[in-house]
Amino acid sequence: VKKIAVLTSGGDSQGMNAALRAVVRSGLYYGLEVYGIQRGYQGLLENDIIKMDLRSVGDIIQRGGTILRSARCEEFKTAEGQQKGADILNQHGIDGLVVIGGDGSYQGANKLSKLGIKTMGLPGTIDNDISFTDYTIGFDTAVSVVVDAVNKLRDTMSSHARSSVVEVMGRHCGDIALHAGLASGAETILVPEVEYNLDEVATRLRENFAKGKRHSIIIVAEGVGRGEDVVHDLKECHASIDARVTVLGHIQRGGAPTPFDRNLASRLGDFAVRSLIDGQSDKGCGIIKGELVLTDIDKVVNTKKEFDRDLYDLALRLSQ
Ligand code: ATP
Repeated sequence: VKKIAVLTSGGDSQGMNAALRAVVRSGLYYGLEVYGIQRGYQGLLENDIIKMDLRSVGDIIQRGGTILRSARCEEFKTAEGQQKGADILNQHGIDGLVVIGGDGSYQGANKLSKLGIKTMGLPGTIDNDISFTDYTIGFDTAVSVVVDAVNKLRDTMSSHARSSVVEVMGRHCGDIALHAGLASGAETILVPEVEYNLDEVATRLRENFAKGKRHSIIIVAEGVGRGEDVVHDLKECHASIDARVTVLGHIQRGGAPTPFDRNLASRLGDFAVRSLIDGQSDKGCGIIKGELVLTDIDKVVNTKKEFDRDLYDLALRLSQ
C-alpha cells in the first residue's frame, strides 16, 4: 500500500482519537500518504476526504469523541453503495483503509476488501462486544465512568439505606455491567448472558440489609431491560425495598480516555498500519493476553464474544 485512509464509524467511543493519531502518525512514519474520511461511510460516499499530516492529529490523544466524526449510513449497506465507496477510494489512489468502529463497521470493511481495497478493522466501541480481542477501545473508560457514578450514588444511598439500580450500556454484551459491578462492589449484576430471577434478587437485598449493609447497588445492562422496570418490579413484588434508578446513558461515551484506552488505541492503530504494509487485508486487529492478533473479519463478526462467567461469580461471592 502507498496511500491509506482512516475513518470512524457507528457509535463513537473514547480513544477513537488516540487510534486516529496512531494510524496517521505510523502511516507517515512508514512513508505512506494518509487521508482522513469524515463521518464514516456516509462521508466516504460524499467524497468528504481530507489529507492528514502530523499536526492534524495533534492535541487529540486526550480527547473523547472523534475529530473525524462518526455516522451511520444506510446506503453503504447496499452493493451499489459499497461499489461507489470503492470507486471513490480508487479515484484517490487509496489502496488501504483502516475502519475504527463496531461490528457493523467491520462488515463494511469486509465488503470493501472484496472490491479490492485492503482493509483493517479496529475495535472502537465501549461495549467490549467484539470477539478476538480482550478489550475494545473505549471500554475501560466507560467502566471508569460507571464506577465513578456508583461511588457518588453510594454516598447518598447509604445515608438513606436505599438500593440503587444503575442502568448501563450493553445491548448484547454485559461486560460494562460486569467489570463496573466488580470494581464498584455491586450486590447484583444483571446481564443479557445470565438469566436472573427477581425474587432471588430481592431476597439477597433483604438478607444483605439484615447483615448490616446500609446500601446496595444493582447494575443492569440495558440488554436485560430498563432500570426503571427493575425498580418498579422490585417495589411491586417486594414492597419493603426502597430502590431508585439512575440511567447513565451517553455519559458513558464521553470524557477523556483512560491511559489504558490511549495505549490500547496507540498499539492497535500502529499494528493496523504495519499489517496493511505487510499485505494483510480483511482483518480485525485485537489484543489477546497482551499479544497483538489479526483475525479474519468474517470470523470476528460471526463469533459471539465469550462472557467471563468466572468473573461474574467472583463479583457475586465478594458482594455478600
Ligand atoms: P456500534 O454498535 O458500536 O454503534 P457499529 O459499527 O456496529 O458500532 P453500526 O451502526 O452497526 O455500528 O454500523 C455502522 C455503519 O457501518 C452502518 O451505518 C453502515 O454504513 C455500515 N454497515 C453496517 N452493517 C453493514 C453491512 N452488513 N454491510 C456494509 N456496511 C455495513
